[in-house]
Amino acid sequence: MRILVSNDDGYFAPGITLLAEALRQLGDVTVVAPERDRSGASNSLTLDRPLTVRRAPNGYFSVNGTPTDCVHIAVTGLLDFTPDLIVSGVNLGANMGDDTIYSGTVAAAAEGYLLGIPSVALSLTSKAGEHFETAIGVALEIVGRLGRAPFGEPVLLNVNIPDVEAARVRGFEVTRLGKRHKAEPVVKLQTPRGETAFWIGPAGGAQDAGPGTDFHAVEAHRVSVTPLRMDLTHQNQLASAREWLQR
Ligand code: MN
Repeated sequence: MRILVSNDDGYFAPGITLLAEALRQLGDVTVVAPERDRSGASNSLTLDRPLTVRRAPNGYFSVNGTPTDCVHIAVTGLLDFTPDLIVSGVNLGANMGDDTIYSGTVAAAAEGYLLGIPSVALSLTSKAGEHFETAIGVALEIVGRLGRAPFGEPVLLNVNIPDVEAARVRGFEVTRLGKRHKAEPVVKLQTPRGETAFWIGPAGGAQDAGPGTDFHAVEAHRVSVTPLRMDLTHQNQLASAREWLQR
C-alpha cells in the first residue's frame, strides 16, 4: 500500500512525524506537507504564484503552500505514482462539528477524496497533545483495516481521537458532525505603530453535542469516525428554493 501523508501543522510537527514513521509498518510512506503551520487554511489552493518543493534531510517534502496545495501537487505531478490512501494529521487539536469547514487537516484529506483516493483525517482532540501514542494506535487500526477491507466506495473519514491513554479509550463510534456555538469575539490589539489589529478568536464551545455527534463520542472517550462528503447541496431545501423562486 502506498500512503501519502500530509497535515496542516507543518512538516516538522510531532503529529506527522509519529504518524509517518508508524505507518511504515503498513506500506510505503511519502510525506508532502506545508513548510509552516497552516492550520485554518481550509480548502484553499495557491493560484497567484508558483509553489516550491524542498526535500528535508529525513526525506519529507515541504511545500510553501497550503495543505490542499500539498496533496494536489503530490497527486497531480510531484509523485510518479498515485497513492492508494491519503492520511492527514495527526492534528494537534480537535476537528469536530464546524471545525471541519475551516480545518486544513480535513482539507488535505478532502483533496485526496476529490481526486478519487480514499482519505482519512486524524485529529487529537486537545491542544495539550499528551497522548499522541493513542492517536497513532488508532491510525494503525484504521489504515490497517482500509488495507485489508477496502471501504468499497469513495470515502473521506474524519477521525477524532480523545487525548487520553490508550487503555482509557472506549472503542470507536461512527458519528455525525455536531455544531459549535458561534466563535468567541475577535481580540483587538494595538500594533507598535498605533494601528488597531484584529486577532480571530477561538472557536465556540459545543452546542449540538448530543448522542450520535462527534463531540459526544469524544467526551465519552470514544474515537469518533465521521464519513464526510464535499457536496454542500442542501437536499432538503431544493423544494423550498424552487417554491420561493415562484413567489
Ligand atoms: Mn492544525
